[in-house]
Amino acid sequence: MFTQDAVIDCEPGWENIIEDMCFSIEYFLDDDRPNNLFKINIIESKFGVLSVDCDNNTPAIKKVIDFAQKLSYYSCETCGDKGKIYCSTKWLYWSKYKTLCKDHAIKYYYYEIRNPKGKK
Ligand SMILES: [Zn+2]
Repeated sequence: MFTQDAVIDCEPGWENIIEDMCFSIEYFLDDDRPNNLFKINIIESKFGVLSVDCDNNTPAIKKVIDFAQKLSYYSCETCGDKGKIYCSTKWLYWSKYKTLCKDHAIKYYYYEIRNPKGKK
């Protein structure tokens, strides 16, 4: 289900989420359509959450990916512990975002976001 030059670019903390996601996708690939053309191009950390770039998505697979994304929102990308989104500088617009546990946020000198996007 991966293209030949597929890229997985995130830290080990999300390994379980990605593994479970791929396992679930495989399950739907068997069921959904016999000649499914679904392919994953990139799995990466984008704006601090898991992002999957793929071709020929189906509604069922989209749900699986959405769920994995939600899990990543609460899991430290480095160690998999319970986390939340932090940013690399005090200036949100110039920051890199990363979902981290408190320990790793301190280790990387990331800042807590008081008003995460879309939440007040
Ligand atoms: Zn951590």
